[in-house]
Amino acid sequence: RELPGDPRRDNIPRQVLHACYTEISPSAEVDNPQLVAWSESVAELLDLDPSEFETPEFPLIFSGASPLVGSLPYAQCYGGHQFGMWAGQLGDGRAITLGEVLNSKSERWELQLKGAGKTPYSRFADGLAVLRSSIREFLCSEAMHSLGIPTTRALCLVTTGKYVTRDMFYDGNPKEEPGAITCRVAESFLRFGSYQIHASRGKEDHGIVRSLADYAIRHHFPHIEKMKKSESLSFSTGEEDQSVVDLTSNKYAAWVVEVAERTASLIASWQGVGFTHGVLNTDNMSILGLTIDYGPFGFLDAFDPKYTPNTTDLPGRRYCFANQPDIGLWNIAQFGATLQAAELIDDKEANYAMERYGTKFMDDYQAIMTRKLGLAKYNKDLISKLLNNMAVDKVDYTNFFRLLSKVMADPGTPETELLTPLKAVLLDIGKERKDAWISWVKSYVQEEMRVPRCLEVWKMGTVNYLDSLKIQEKLVSDRKAHKISDTVLSLQHPPTYTLGKRRTDHNFLVPVSEVKNIGAEVH
Ligand code: AMP
Ligand code: MG
Ligand code: MG
Repeated sequence: RELPGDPRRDNIPRQVLHACYTEISPSAEVDNPQLVAWSESVAELLDLDPSEFETPEFPLIFSGASPLVGSLPYAQCYGGHQFGMWAGQLGDGRAITLGEVLNSKSERWELQLKGAGKTPYSRFADGLAVLRSSIREFLCSEAMHSLGIPTTRALCLVTTGKYVTRDMFYDGNPKEEPGAITCRVAESFLRFGSYQIHASRGKEDHGIVRSLADYAIRHHFPHIEKMKKSESLSFSTGEEDQSVVDLTSNKYAAWVVEVAERTASLIASWQGVGFTHGVLNTDNMSILGLTIDYGPFGFLDAFDPKYTPNTTDLPGRRYCFANQPDIGLWNIAQFGATLQAAELIDDKEANYAMERYGTKFMDDYQAIMTRKLGLAKYNKDLISKLLNNMAVDKVDYTNFFRLLSKVMADPGTPETELLTPLKAVLLDIGKERKDAWISWVKSYVQEEMRVPRCLEVWKMGTVNYLDSLKIQEKLVSDRKAHKISDTVLSLQHPPTYTLGKRRTDHNFLVPVSEVKNIGAEVH
């Protein structure tokens, strides 16, 4: 513990000043906690023998009822901008870190229980989590990992055997739901807000910003400290005075640039699969560029740039699908301003990080969209026309690209047959729109590429993933938690699991191997 901690160890809500964390133990009430789901691939990261999952102690430890030997549990202090407004102290209100595992590969993995009870950061809330949202976090974080998208992971999910009251429900009436605790795993859960809070508290705490930055660089960005002058380049800021930002002369500048680039890559990959986070507040932005804090997230079905899965974000739609890249930049601007306030970087370096965010986002986004179309080279016009067409006709953002791979490259295909492979996703379109699509497919076919037109995700198995989630949620809210086994096992059965009439919705792609793991492990 190299960082300043809170001298008190109670969970009374308060402003925790001059401290990065509070030592606090899990306190959620449990009654015969049950292991509901686990991930063997995460166990492997932790050098944890999978037979441990079967021990009677396991659900006790991962519900926080029994202490994990050697752990020093704590909750983190952080702040953040919520929906564009500075919100002051937030902190781990229902997450408690058990500690870090240093594995045999010298990787550092932090274990955190989400829903384990109150902390000084719980404010007005109960410190608990329900099974419904815990299943969403568990499955989605593992699926994101399987899609190659940086994310926090989940080791296991335990029901507490207690019920939790939630009142923000569809009909406005409070409901009791089964309580659960997810064990999340990441190299670090530090957020932009972890730095913001200390910078916001005035000069006196600016030293903490520096210590916490040193800590992050030492443990999670060690290559930055090793960077030598000879190894790296200086970059022109493009300004008229030809000034240059030398990233080797200030490790904090190199760090903010790397955080900016990781964030840009992350958001580009979200845009690629249609993931919409839902709450991109600065306290939900990982300094490692991980997808973190799964809440009201959603995946695009019909392509709709304004898609906003978080109903509390209506009608403003600050965090809608199409805004995510700009929000990432806005958040990086806040992070840069934080480091600037603590005098770790200057104005030029902060601006430079934002510039690099933009460049990295465009590079990655263009590469991803090019790959989605199976093109050899980026074609701006083709892609923007396509997205425009998709938005007008509400075309499924995943299934379209899968069917596109069946469009033949043969320029001799008669016009009347050009759209045949896409029939299932071009629903209810009139003559005029048909012409727009024919014209687009023609230009697509004319592109001189014809390299193997496989989407990267195309190599993976198909799973009707979100449909399964919906079914699970339903079962869970029926309070028959233990029946989720059959449903989750249905994840093993590609390709089409249909829910009512929505045949083409939600076909989400995850590698079959990973899905099997999740499915087979769930009781
Ligand atoms: P979020 O936007 O959901 O990531 O959370 C914003 C803040 O609210 C964070 O400080 C969370 O720890 C806190 N929070 C959310 N839900 C709860 C809860 N049930 N009990 C205590 N704190 C919570
Ligand atoms: Mg959060
Ligand atoms: Mg949350």
